[in-house]
Order: sequence, then structure tokens, then C-alpha cells
Amino acid sequence: MTSTQVISDLASALASGAIEVVDLTAPLGPDTPLIKLPPQIGKNTPTIEIHPISKYDQDGPFWAWNWLKLGEHSGTHFDAPVHWISGKNHPNNTTDTIPVKNFVGPACVIDCSAETASNDDFLLTVDGVKAWEKKHGDIPSGSWVLMRTDWYKRNDSEAKFLNADDKGPHSPGPTAETIHYLIAKGILGWGTECIGTDAGCAGGMDPPFPAHNFLHKNNRYGLASLCQLDKLPPKGAILIVAPLKIVKGTGSPLRALALVPKH
Ligand code: MN
Repeated sequence: MTSTQVISDLASALASGAIEVVDLTAPLGPDTPLIKLPPQIGKNTPTIEIHPISKYDQDGPFWAWNWLKLGEHSGTHFDAPVHWISGKNHPNNTTDTIPVKNFVGPACVIDCSAETASNDDFLLTVDGVKAWEKKHGDIPSGSWVLMRTDWYKRNDSEAKFLNADDKGPHSPGPTAETIHYLIAKGILGWGTECIGTDAGCAGGMDPPFPAHNFLHKNNRYGLASLCQLDKLPPKGAILIVAPLKIVKGTGSPLRALALVPKH
């Protein structure tokens, strides 16, 4: 099949609905949950603000438009390698320089929703990934690996989403070894439905925040606060996850989409 035929078939499938476009994005606004770092670790990203410039009024009679105040790592967002100290020296490590072909790729979705339903601190281990591979085949090089937890269903409440107590935040994520294993497979990146790519308890791991550390050390990417991973098959969806072309950006909110064959 020629590539022209592939595009033509894709267009037909999109038009007929044989391939669906699934929105993996959380609403972006003043109520969007944001990470809360303890003050001894560092500053926090500000609450999102949306300010009108005009709304068909004396400030602009025929048009409405807003200006925004938001951090790069707000809502459903992309982590560029420059986000972490381990990735700061890579070439093309910022949102404006990453090769755009890396923003489109196949997705492997590892369903951890049963485990996370009873364990907020659940960690996906290498054995967990291998069990998935036994069922669905090897994780192909060049794919995005997404951890499904149904955590996005908490997205309407920052308290439930962050799930913190006096011991810190409780949310699922990968072990350090899992990220190592996936990088050795040649993945494009790793994504989760939680506030960041690491588990809530990852500040206490060795190294701290291993998903951030190892992904970006290897010039790979992260996706956080994804939604609706329960609408994706384990294999067979194509992800479209392009951050804004922010100059020297360390990350960016994005509209994460998946092309999914309708069954
Ligand atoms: Mn981030």
C-alpha cells in the first residue's frame, strides 16, 4: 500500500467514524488541579487565570478575546527533556526544537485501574509491564507508553486528584526500574493520568522522581494529567500530542488526541 493510499484510507475512516478521535485532555481553567510542592522544595506554578481583553464591548466592539496566565506544566501537558536537570544539555530538548515527528506515535496502554482502585500508591513494576507484553506483544520502539489508572475521574477536585495527607501525595506511577526497562525498549515517552509522570511518593525514591530523571536524561518525553485512557485499546491507537511551540519551553499544555479504531 502506498503512503498516499494510507492517507486517503485514513481520511475515509475519519469521515465515516471507523476511526474515532478521542480527547485525552482535561479542561484548562482556574479550577484545573495543579501540583503543590512543599515550600522547602521550591516554588509552585500559579493558579490559571483567564482575563478578558474585550467581549463585544467598548474594548473591542465586534470581538471577544482573552489573555492567559498559566504555567507550562498546567493541566494535561507535555514534559520536554529540558524540564529536568538530567536532560538540560540535550540538543532539541525544548518545546520549540523537538522534532515534530515525535509528537505523533502509536500508544501502548497498560491498564492498572484494578490495582489503583484499591491502592492509591500502586507502582507499576517491570513484571507488570512484562505481563502486559505477554498478552499484547512487545512494546514497540517509537511508541508512547501510557499508564491507565482512571485517576482522571478525580480531575474535578484538586484535593482528590492530589490525594495528599501529612505523609505527602498518594498517587500511582512507575518504579525507577520500569522506566529503565521502557527506555531500553526505545519508547518515545511515558504518560499518566496523574498530576505528573512520577508517583506521588516518588520524591522519596532513588533517584528522586525517577520517571522525570530517566526519561529526560534519555531525551524522552512525558505526558501528565491525561484523561480517558479507558477509551483506548491496549494497542492500536495513534497518539497526537503536540505542545505549543513555546520558545525554549520546558513543557506546555496541549490538546492530547488519540486516533482509535472503532470496534
Ligand atoms: Mn510537567
